Amino acid sequence: MRAAIMHAPGDVRVEDRDRPALQQPTDAVIKLVAACVCGSDLWPYRGADTLNEPRTMGHEYVGIVEETGADVKSVKPGQFVVGSFFASDNTCEICRSGYQSGCVHRQGVGGAQAEYLRVPLADGTLVATPEMPDAGKVPSLLAASDVLGTGWFAAKAAEVGPGKTVAVVGDGAVGLLGVLAAQQMGAERIIAMSRHADRQALAREFGATDIVEERGEAGVQKIRELTGGLGAHSVIEAVGTQESMLQAIHATRAGGHVGFVGVSHDVALPGRDLFYSHVHLHGGPAPVRQYLPELIDLILRGDINPEKVFDLELPLEQAAEAYRAMDERRAIKVLLRP
Ligand SMILES: [Zn+2]
Ligand SMILES: [Zn+2]
Repeated sequence: MRAAIMHAPGDVRVEDRDRPALQQPTDAVIKLVAACVCGSDLWPYRGADTLNEPRTMGHEYVGIVEETGADVKSVKPGQFVVGSFFASDNTCEICRSGYQSGCVHRQGVGGAQAEYLRVPLADGTLVATPEMPDAGKVPSLLAASDVLGTGWFAAKAAEVGPGKTVAVVGDGAVGLLGVLAAQQMGAERIIAMSRHADRQALAREFGATDIVEERGEAGVQKIRELTGGLGAHSVIEAVGTQESMLQAIHATRAGGHVGFVGVSHDVALPGRDLFYSHVHLHGGPAPVRQYLPELIDLILRGDINPEKVFDLELPLEQAAEAYRAMDERRAIKVLLRP
């Protein structure tokens, strides 16, 4: 089969690889219908994560179940499924409390920028749609696999709700879908922080009421001006750098909540800042599996259209161009068709 392989920073090639096979009785192998490039794939692409050997890429996926191991009960061959980037048993105490991405048996799912994918713990990881979805719904269902699920978790972690003012740090796909999530959860005011006209427009379409172009402490100042000097009730952090984390914490009012979902890179928070901020910090890899049934439902009913974050679609063979387009910020998010 064909698969995207990262050989070194800036070097992605599509090559032949063995088709994955079932390894455990709890595995499924799926034939991918669509996959995409994640903002977090750009960390190794830009050399910010070390790459010791060529690596298969991709952890956001939708597909059709090809075969299942003997112990798999909840999905069967021929079904269309959406999965999450951490495989989970969905039965342990941590899963049952809603933190499937912290499952005691969690395993990373990788290699989805390919024709086929092995998914461990299929029963606890994959969710089948009631029937074969229309082709037009595929991109939105793919978004649910990570960026939408992650934006949703960020909004939950930030305790977004009716009457709240929400600020969103980061205008990548996750930040933009954090705006959508905040709007769905009834936020009164949603301030998107972005300096790119196309992303500002999409943020507004997803429900942003205000745009702040300033960054860092200037951005914090602006949020305070917009909130009577208090700061936002809820802040979504969707970048993962020192600057963005401090921007999020400082933009939150005393007693407010920060939901942080940008994969943390060299972030070291000053204790005194934290101590005097009175903010709640909650985040990490999103328990997407928890939200999949609800998100699939909202998508199939046409209530939300997260697919708008995919502004470029390419065949898998052009994965290298997909990475370049996202790295150069020519595209928000690229969908790949195997
Ligand atoms: Zn991702
Ligand atoms: Zn578990």
